[in-house]
Amino acid sequence: MVKTQRGPSRADQRLDSTTPVAETSEEQQEPERTVTRETGALIRERATINLLVDNLSEGVILLDRQGRVVDTNEAADRLFGEPIPLGMDSIEFARHYRVATPDGSLVPPEREPGRRALAGETVRGQELSIERPDGRRAYVSISASPVVDGELRGALLLLRDISERVRRDREAAAFQLLSQQLAGSELDINAVYKTIVSRISEITGAGVVRLLLYESETRTLHRVARHSSFPLDLREPVVQNIDDEPATLDTLAARTHLPAVVPEFSVYAAGNELEMARAQQVGSSIALPLLVRDDLVGTLSYDLPEPHTFDDAEIAFLGMVATQSAIAIHNATVFQQRSRERAFLADLIEHLPAGLIVFERIPAVSQRARGDYRVSMMNMLAGTYLPPSLLQRAQGRRNGLVGLRIRRLATDERAERLLGWLDEAVESGQIVRGEEVQAQPAALEGSDTSDPQGMRFWIGTIVPLRDRRGEVHEVVLLATNITEQVVTRRRIEELVRIAGTRAAELEATVSAMNDAVTVCDSEGTLRIVNRAALTTYGVESVAQLARMPIPCERIQLRHTNGTPVLPEERPLTRALAGETLQHDYTMFHHGLGRDIHRRTSAAPVLDASGTIIGAVAVETDITGLIEVDRLKDEFFSMAAHELRTPLTAMKGYVQILLRQLSPFDSDVEPIIPRALATLRDQGDRMERLINELLDVARIDTGQLDLRFGAVELVGLVEQLVGETGRSTQRHTVTLTAEPRAIPGRWDRDRLAQVFANLLSNAVKYSPEGGTIEVSLRWDGDPAHTVAVAIRDQGVGIEPDAIPRLFARYSRVGSDSRNHYQISGLGVGLYITKQIVDAHNGTIHVASTPGHGSTFTVTLPMHPKDTG
Ligand code: ADP
Repeated sequence: MVKTQRGPSRADQRLDSTTPVAETSEEQQEPERTVTRETGALIRERATINLLVDNLSEGVILLDRQGRVVDTNEAADRLFGEPIPLGMDSIEFARHYRVATPDGSLVPPEREPGRRALAGETVRGQELSIERPDGRRAYVSISASPVVDGELRGALLLLRDISERVRRDREAAAFQLLSQQLAGSELDINAVYKTIVSRISEITGAGVVRLLLYESETRTLHRVARHSSFPLDLREPVVQNIDDEPATLDTLAARTHLPAVVPEFSVYAAGNELEMARAQQVGSSIALPLLVRDDLVGTLSYDLPEPHTFDDAEIAFLGMVATQSAIAIHNATVFQQRSRERAFLADLIEHLPAGLIVFERIPAVSQRARGDYRVSMMNMLAGTYLPPSLLQRAQGRRNGLVGLRIRRLATDERAERLLGWLDEAVESGQIVRGEEVQAQPAALEGSDTSDPQGMRFWIGTIVPLRDRRGEVHEVVLLATNITEQVVTRRRIEELVRIAGTRAAELEATVSAMNDAVTVCDSEGTLRIVNRAALTTYGVESVAQLARMPIPCERIQLRHTNGTPVLPEERPLTRALAGETLQHDYTMFHHGLGRDIHRRTSAAPVLDASGTIIGAVAVETDITGLIEVDRLKDEFFSMAAHELRTPLTAMKGYVQILLRQLSPFDSDVEPIIPRALATLRDQGDRMERLINELLDVARIDTGQLDLRFGAVELVGLVEQLVGETGRSTQRHTVTLTAEPRAIPGRWDRDRLAQVFANLLSNAVKYSPEGGTIEVSLRWDGDPAHTVAVAIRDQGVGIEPDAIPRLFARYSRVGSDSRNHYQISGLGVGLYITKQIVDAHNGTIHVASTPGHGSTFTVTLPMHPKDTG
């Protein structure tokens, strides 16, 4: 028996009958009197009874007639957490201990068992809860009966502590509730978290409950839910690494997969931690691992306001709760993931840039009947492939067709075809590809009608879906928009058609041309050869021509001087290399059996990016022109020859007459010697012109033979400069030579002709006069060349005239020339260049119109073929 701090025990008090019980009052007198009336034997008996009562495991409370507490035993005091104050009125008592029914509502005074017993009722096992001074609740089963000793003397209350049973019952009920809620929850993961923490708080009376989820990759615990009767404590970590030290109860439970417990913080914690525990009114804590088949899902932990020893039964119960929670979280997580995947898929299908319809197959009932299909799903674009008869049935609603058997509805030809494909896919079990269908985006609600006018092209793919046994229950129709491909294809077809027409036109034009046209590709393979070209080569087709080796008897291409054209010099080959050219050739015409002359223009063919993709050559027959040219040359040559004979005779007689005239002969009219001198000079001029023509004829027939010999160039030029100077009054002719003597092997007369011509041009084309500077430069090295420059201050030459300056009969027309009426045949520079060329030399001109020209001749000291 435990002594209370209030001094002698109740039993002692009971034994000492003389001691008044509690405060004395009128009402208390009676029981006292009752006791004092007892005899000694009775007293002993009472003592025995008292001893028994005190040792009873059940609490005993004795009330007097007025309902005041007159006696209690140890067990009752223990139950109420303190010695029950004696003399307390039962109504006050009920208020003091907050006596309540199990559902928590306070017991009204008339229902209070003491009152009921005093009213004559016998109460059996009324279950009530009481609150102890320390705030803890205890559950009691109370039986009460009136104490009647002839008359009503009071009431006796017997109390049994049923806290443990109630706790178990409540746990079981809460567990059941938790299970039900978790099973019944919509698998919304957050709802699951909330249910767990709030139920745990209810079951355990915990101040704070937390739920942490484990992330195995990072080995961290993440707080996902918290239930608290305190404001949220910010110092509580939201993420914890389970390997961190010092460990928390949660990380400990996570590491060990076992519950971690602090039954009493004041014992196990110190310093800061204890401070915190106190501040948050934490008396004890437990963390439970949440495991699904040994896999850690997370931890569940809670704090109780008072110290608490978790016994085995409680831990086992909590283990069950934890398992239940772990499974619920696991399921919800999996479900959430699945539904996210499903939502993603659904979204994907819905917004697929293709129409998708799932048909459920309805097998045929008899052998004769055909199976049918029911639309079970359609996405946004699906309407676009639907045959009009089905579309009509949909009545503009997205799901207007869903559930309908379509065979009966299909009335148009397109629907028949669709059914045919579906049947084919079902029967073969293979993917069936439908035909191209032209359809307008359907005006079904929610379908893409952004371009309602636009016709689109679709192609359907029908995919039978087999189950595990290989049977087809569903068929998917996937309608792909192939508008782009169709449009592109049509455009290409159109282009091909246009290209074909163009090619035909071009071919007609080309083949009608008299000029020979040949076109090759970038490889040099002949692609187009027109009729004129085929005739020239004496072949029937391009292929035939392409097979012929080059050069061969039929394809003899020669330069105009007769040397064969090398393969790399052929016009198409040069054009393929990027050159644009015009060149004259001689070739053997197979059809005519004789040589023909052709002027060939060739150019590369470029694509849009400038890449050479081939070459084209157009050959014009210039045989006629050449012939005319030849006849003209022949005529000139002949005329010159013919003119020379009478001229020689005329010149001879003039010489004779001049020589016979005495300057002192006064009989002679003064006009006569002047006339004769003029005749002589004009005859000389005429001879020079005739000689020029003859020279041209010689050059053309390759008869310009040079006679090389030792020549001192400075002396030669000096002499010509002197003659030129004397022939004009308006010009000053100067000469500079470095060195003073330049010896070499040249044709003296021909070189004299070259410089005389250049000097006479310099005079002729500077009609206003001026200085003519002649310079000779040689560095003394016999391997180097000598340069002779003749510079005038005359009319000059337009830049675009320079390229044809050295051609035959090229008289470069200019206003100044006409103005000054300068005469000439236009062959002087041609002959000059031919002579310089024959010396392996070069001739160049630099000129500024209006300011003068400089002709520069360079000559090797010993031209190669001079022996
Ligand atoms: P021509 O007999 O007409 O002088 P050339 O062959 O000597 O024939 O010269 C050809 C053309 O070159 C001339 O018609 C003239 O226009 C031009 N030419 C030649 N030399 C000069 C020069 N020094 N200054 C200007 N033009 C010149």
